Amino acid sequence: MTLLILMPDRDVTALATALNKINPDLDIRIWPEVGPTQDIEYVIVWNHPSGELNKFPNLKVIASYGAGVDHILKDPDLPEQAIITRLVDDSLSRQMCEYIAGVILNQRLRLTEYREYQAATHWSPKAPRSGNVVCLLGLGNIGLEVARYLTNLNFTVRGWSQSPKDIDRIKTFHGPNQLDAALTDADYIVCLLPLTPQTTNILDKTFFHKTKKGAYLINVGRGGHLNEDDLMDALYQEQLSGACLDVFRTEPLPEDHPFWRHPRIYLTPHSASVTNIGLAARKLYENYLNMQKNLPLLNRINMTKGY
Ligand code: NAP
Repeated sequence: MTLLILMPDRDVTALATALNKINPDLDIRIWPEVGPTQDIEYVIVWNHPSGELNKFPNLKVIASYGAGVDHILKDPDLPEQAIITRLVDDSLSRQMCEYIAGVILNQRLRLTEYREYQAATHWSPKAPRSGNVVCLLGLGNIGLEVARYLTNLNFTVRGWSQSPKDIDRIKTFHGPNQLDAALTDADYIVCLLPLTPQTTNILDKTFFHKTKKGAYLINVGRGGHLNEDDLMDALYQEQLSGACLDVFRTEPLPEDHPFWRHPRIYLTPHSASVTNIGLAARKLYENYLNMQKNLPLLNRINMTKGY
């Protein structure tokens, strides 16, 4: 049984070393040096070339090297027999909690604004920004942890998901008909949705018209959730007071993209929550063993839902 690492835009040496440390006998191949294609049964992927996975006739598992699987499902030529899994680990949720809280507190305490004043040797004390209502779009593995974290910091948290939920101290909403209610009065809106046909371009003109005037947007889901022109308009019209973006339609963000220089856009390079190689290797190997033993796979995605 052979495991293939197929991540064209990454240096995968550390991942291969971590997997070999767990099991020195593991037969690991690193794309494009795949050897006989019939050997490959388990593949770890991130941004693979479309059609590539169909070259392995005995492929059983396609394991995403991240929480999202949109990068896999966008391939129209996937092998039908293979099961798709994703990474779920506490460190991803923990990092995301700190990132979201950090962004909100930075905005609320005007820290970036004061850094600009500092550059201009300008002394101008102000009260913190008011408003402590946060709407989380997505209450999955990560969203739920973020909701609890922010509630413990005394934010009023609303959460929106696909199916109904009952969560202590969090007001929950579900489905398209309850989106407006979820957004009502939200000072901060955080997108933690998976990218699916239903959520693509969800952050568009229609959405921004439903938000409270002056709300602040944080997109840590995927670049495909955001209509970029509509965001620029919403910022220009001051419907939104600002936006923090961690994910983009094209990554790395092209040098001439207007987001780089926009005064009210704060951006980070898809680093809100970074996969920890050692932890990921353990999780991936655990599922590799499950596959070998014909046991149920962990974090299998639901193909009907697309996440
Ligand atoms: P998850 O466990 O699959 O949760 C997804 C959540 O979104 C669920 O609550 C789901 O509702 C909800 N949802 C899905 N489709 C919906 C729809 N059409 N309408 C309303 N709600 C919908 O995912 P996760 O592990 O929390 O991760 C979420 C996403 O975060 C990932 O897919 C990835 O795109 C992003 N992410 C980004 C980074 C980064 O560094 N920027 C890192 C990790 C993850 P139900 O609960 O009802 O199913």
